[in-house]
Amino acid sequence: MRRFKEPELLVASHNKDKISEIQILLSPYVKKFITSHDQGLPEPNEDGKTFHENARIKALTAAAVTKLPALADDSGLCVEGLDGAPGIYSSRWAGSSKDFTAATQKIFRELGDNQNTRAEFVCVLALAWPDGDVVYAEGRSAGNLIFPGRGDYLFGYDPFFVPDGYNKTFAELGPEGKAAVSHRARAFDQLVKDYFA
Ligand code: IMP
Repeated sequence: MRRFKEPELLVASHNKDKISEIQILLSPYVKKFITSHDQGLPEPNEDGKTFHENARIKALTAAAVTKLPALADDSGLCVEGLDGAPGIYSSRWAGSSKDFTAATQKIFRELGDNQNTRAEFVCVLALAWPDGDVVYAEGRSAGNLIFPGRGDYLFGYDPFFVPDGYNKTFAELGPEGKAAVSHRARAFDQLVKDYFA
């Protein structure tokens, strides 16, 4: 199985919260991180129908342009009572102003009389090499939605999500606390075990 051995990794993201979580999780294995944001790379059109397709598009596009191995994360919040929505559209539900309070209010509105608060975050990672090889890892974190939100770490839906086994939201746990339980941390555990360690 192919392993990551290169000194540099391109993190194919423009989302500063995602980038800093990825750097915390992979710092033992990567000497130098470069990001799409630093390189001024355009954001590719995420027109896939699944987390895997979108992660693949982002990673392969960045690897082809930079000639570096590239890692992309496609993630989102899947609400049980909404058949998995917003899912791959999680960012788009917050609109161009990135208003996640409004996006969460929309979730509760769409749940209607069925106020089933069960939800899970999903993260799919794609690691692509410039020769077109791509590998994947996936992680999930289940919990309940709350409204209004709590906590100071204002990444996406974090203030509104309480993971199972905790009584704090992801936003109260913050990036270090989330690393014990998040969908992203679990996907990275898998990725590291299979392709880095
Ligand atoms: P992507 O950049 O297209 O993968 O969009 C992912 C979106 O899902 C983010 O903009 C957030 O709205 C949401 N999301 C993914 N992971 C997290 C997380 O760890 N906390 C909060 N929101 C997240």
